[in-house]
Amino acid sequence: MAIDFKKKRGFICDMDGVIYHGNTILPGVREFIRWMQNEKKDYLFLTNNSGYTPRELNQKLCRMGLNVPEEHFYTSALATAAFLADQAPGCSAYVIGEAGLLNALYDAGIVMNDVDPDYVVVGEGKNYSLDTLTKACNLVLKGAKLIGANSDISGPIENGIMPACGSLVSPIEMTTGTKAYFCGKPNPLMMRTGLKKLGCHSNEAVMIGDRMDTDVISGLESGMSTVLVLSGVSDRSTLDAFAFRPSVILSGVGEIPKLAARDEK
Ligand SMILES: [Mg+2]
Repeated sequence: MAIDFKKKRGFICDMDGVIYHGNTILPGVREFIRWMQNEKKDYLFLTNNSGYTPRELNQKLCRMGLNVPEEHFYTSALATAAFLADQAPGCSAYVIGEAGLLNALYDAGIVMNDVDPDYVVVGEGKNYSLDTLTKACNLVLKGAKLIGANSDISGPIENGIMPACGSLVSPIEMTTGTKAYFCGKPNPLMMRTGLKKLGCHSNEAVMIGDRMDTDVISGLESGMSTVLVLSGVSDRSTLDAFAFRPSVILSGVGEIPKLAARDEK
């Protein structure tokens, strides 16, 4: 199942554990990005975090000395906005979340409504409180459909972990007896809308990530070649827990330009 990286047109690449850890850039990333840019590859950097806008992600990478224009970022907020705009153009939503999610929804023509919205949309964010939770529950009981930007249970912070979107949605699910629909990874929908954004067919594209249960499975289920990198949360023993495997396993994305150069010879 080797991948001919030289021939692939599109690259969808997870960020945390692949490009950086916290605010630290990982080895070989600079070379990998330069290779994609020089080879005129279509590429997207993808994150389940709905809190940041593409502009904020562009600035975060700038601070690490990486120049990646805004249009190359794809977040679960953008996937959620694309999903809602497709399902119910011009719909309304009550939103718990941050700028990344609010901007994405506004840009997709979705109207904010805290009286009788079509959807309750939840992302990670600091305006989450018992008040917003109570409001969300009552709107769902009145018929609003419940959407989560992603189903992640927790995310890393300095000195530990913090609850992520999936955990924040669960009190609403429990209180109302309604199951949420999640738009981010591992929903292959996020890969499909990402591929559409790249203008690329799945068999010309590669998904690169450090998690089997989100990155690799969603790439696999949407028909892409998959790369598991060991620069993040997974090591070789992680593979034993899964019934599927990635196309290739690499120590980090820095190996990709080297493999492409080798294949050329
Ligand atoms: Mg990751």
